[in-house]
Amino acid sequence: PALSTDVVVIGSGGAGFSAAVAAFDAGAKVVLVEKEPVIGGNAKLAAGGMNAAESASQDALGIEDKVSIMVEDTMKGGYGKNDPALVDILANNSAGSVAWLTAMGADLKDVGRMGGASVNRSHRPTGGAGVGAHVVQVLYDNAVTRDIDMRLNTRAVEILKHADGSVRGLLVKGAHTGYYWIEAKAAILATGGFAKNNERVAHHDPKLKGFAATNHPGATGDGLDVAANAGASMTDLEYVQAHPTYSPLGGVMITEAVRGNGAILVNRDGNRFVNEITTRDVAAAAILKQKGGSAFLVFDDSVRKSLKKIEGYIALGIVSESQQLSEIAAELDIDAAQLAATVKRYNSLVEGGKDLDFARPNLPRALNQGAYYALEVTPAVHHTMGGVTIDNRAEVQNEQGQTIKGLYAAGEATGGVHGANRLGGNAISDIVTFGRLAGEQAAKYIK
Ligand code: ADP
Repeated sequence: PALSTDVVVIGSGGAGFSAAVAAFDAGAKVVLVEKEPVIGGNAKLAAGGMNAAESASQDALGIEDKVSIMVEDTMKGGYGKNDPALVDILANNSAGSVAWLTAMGADLKDVGRMGGASVNRSHRPTGGAGVGAHVVQVLYDNAVTRDIDMRLNTRAVEILKHADGSVRGLLVKGAHTGYYWIEAKAAILATGGFAKNNERVAHHDPKLKGFAATNHPGATGDGLDVAANAGASMTDLEYVQAHPTYSPLGGVMITEAVRGNGAILVNRDGNRFVNEITTRDVAAAAILKQKGGSAFLVFDDSVRKSLKKIEGYIALGIVSESQQLSEIAAELDIDAAQLAATVKRYNSLVEGGKDLDFARPNLPRALNQGAYYALEVTPAVHHTMGGVTIDNRAEVQNEQGQTIKGLYAAGEATGGVHGANRLGGNAISDIVTFGRLAGEQAAKYIK
């Protein structure tokens, strides 16, 4: 081998970094490989938040939540297809994971609402910075402090095994260095999902053929092939999530927090048509049913001020802006009179505190402070719920339901946590909690 280590981590997203730091802190020597020239995977793009129940941040804001409600919301959002043991781990460790990140320097003090959650539990940095980039940065800084050996441009090709089937190391291909192998007693697969690979997506869910994707270029799913070659079984690959609000003009995903903070969705006739903060699958299907297969996010200056992320969308030039709603309607070819009536009606519902039209559970603010803003949105492939099968120690299972000794997996590369549909805010929670678990368990295994 070119080098020898205790644990080799594959992937530099939130799951990979969490695993690397946790394994190191539990006493293991760690090497991390990443096929792309940059770190952070899809995790760094996550704009929403990190779901956690019974956290210190919630306490500080007087938000009452229960781990059991987070379990219920997650199971309901996933249509009960989730592995309940994994959902228990997710919810029970969620506040601990926020505390773990906070102790390493993260700011997750702001707490907002995401679709499918019964209470505010989406933890994010104060001031509205993207949660994923922040969490990845904190984890990266901590990996650097620990002097963890990180290798970019290094693709995992094959998991090598001893004669008894346990992990012996990893064959990699360096973009500049070619093939070499890393001797390791344990491997952690944290290679993310395959949303960017439309051929693979359409193979599992044909109705998503030709769809754009919100993901980073590395989300191709080759890590799943590496796992399958090592004998891993796969779960839930047919469950692929479309994010409801992708801007076709900008080629970027518009975070759910825009709706969570008060934006409404209207169609070309100027009408609302759905509870804006329902689950992603329901919102996406509703948008596709509208004329043109798209809709418009409409909001005002108070929503803009509440979320830093919106400045980025405005800077991209994809948001129409005017003091007059009617001008926006004219620009985007929305029925102006109806749009005015819809906003008026919505504001009266906000005042009354109850959405009698679509039962939207949160009504954070009326839309009555000019300027007004709107942008077109349509669904795009966002998250792949399926992946390798793991047990409650994040150990990878083979087709016979036995563990592959020394092989662990975490994050979007795994299946079972989210069932048929992932709730916004549960991805960051998943990758940190299961990344930590995989790192700790791998460190225990090698001793
Ligand atoms: P998660 O959110 O589960 O942490 P991410 O998508 O954030 O997943 O990160 C996964 C990372 O793994 C990405 O940076 C991706 O480029 C990397 N990756 C995927 N396949 C391989 C591979 N075969 N070898 C090395 N790195 C890989």
